[in-house]
Amino acid sequence: QGEPRQQRSQLMEKLNDWYRSLLDKTPTAMQYLHDRGIYESSIEHFGIGYAPASHLTLGFIKQNQFSMAEAVELGVAGESEGREYARFIERITFPIHAPNGAIVGFGGRTITGHQAKYVNSPQTKLFNKSRLLYAYNHARESIHKRKEMIVTEGYLDVIMLHQAGFTQAVATLGTALTSEHLPLLRKGEPRVIMAYDGDAAGRNAALKASKLLSAAGFDGGVVLFEGGRDPADMVKEGRVEELGAMFRQPRPFIDFVLETTLGQYDLANPRAKEQALAETTAYLKTLSPLMQEEYKRHLAARMGISPGLVRVGSQPVRTAAP
Ligand code: ATP
Ligand code: MN
Ligand code: MN
Ligand code: MN
Repeated sequence: QGEPRQQRSQLMEKLNDWYRSLLDKTPTAMQYLHDRGIYESSIEHFGIGYAPASHLTLGFIKQNQFSMAEAVELGVAGESEGREYARFIERITFPIHAPNGAIVGFGGRTITGHQAKYVNSPQTKLFNKSRLLYAYNHARESIHKRKEMIVTEGYLDVIMLHQAGFTQAVATLGTALTSEHLPLLRKGEPRVIMAYDGDAAGRNAALKASKLLSAAGFDGGVVLFEGGRDPADMVKEGRVEELGAMFRQPRPFIDFVLETTLGQYDLANPRAKEQALAETTAYLKTLSPLMQEEYKRHLAARMGISPGLVRVGSQPVRTAAP
């Protein structure tokens, strides 16, 4: 995008090497990954590591002649009331790479029940989480070949999907999919499959993403897992064939948005029905003229009203009087 190539930081690379070496020496962490169903080969491939107690990480930074100011600037250390602390403490670490492979951040999962399940690098000069996708560097080739990208919520989802052969999987980094992600999503012109968690938060995030992606003209759709499951759970349960079938037939973005929106209204009530019509019509206006035309008829049929009532085009949307 005309931006300078992401610089490699010696500190980030060395710290990651060190975290990786510590994982081998931490049986509880190895056991945890084993119990989650993660293969040794995935530990290598994704560079999974282990961050120890705070003072050990601070010691490593100092012994290797890195400045504490740099560590703070890169988000691997913090500072409060004049005291430094390591960002990742007793956590399994997942290095986050820029598309060119440079390490720009980390995700850390507790295995000892620390307050936050995950800690992620903060926004830094290297790390812009609303633009990056986790594991994009590993998935790029597959995305281009298969013309498909699977977007999940979490690190474990990506790793388990890759293990199951879905090497076109990436994750948003604990944030929503934003318009800043679109340039990366467009590369290779894949269709995009949103595979977020089957809980309320995941469905809501999938709805927002579907609006964004359909307005931007992306092909693809949403898959929904029942019982609050996520892709990692599905793989762990051995439901790989089922996953494949779901990815082959995602719910198209526009259908998903219309159906979810209508589902929020009691269509037996005329006033609620009018609001549902106003909301869905406003959404249709974000789409291309052809899609508006197609889905205008679809929406009218679905709502049991005449197509003339779906006023896309240039007329203002009539909403119910207060
Ligand atoms: P696991 O399977 O290890 O329990 P998950 O990936 O299913 O984790 P979710 O709770 O579904 O975790 O959250 C999805 C993603 O959101 C995580 O992978 C992480 O990036 C981010 N996340 C979750 N909890 C937090 C938190 N407390 N702080 C920051 N980010 C978080
Ligand atoms: Mn979740
Ligand atoms: Mn999850
Ligand atoms: Mn999970």
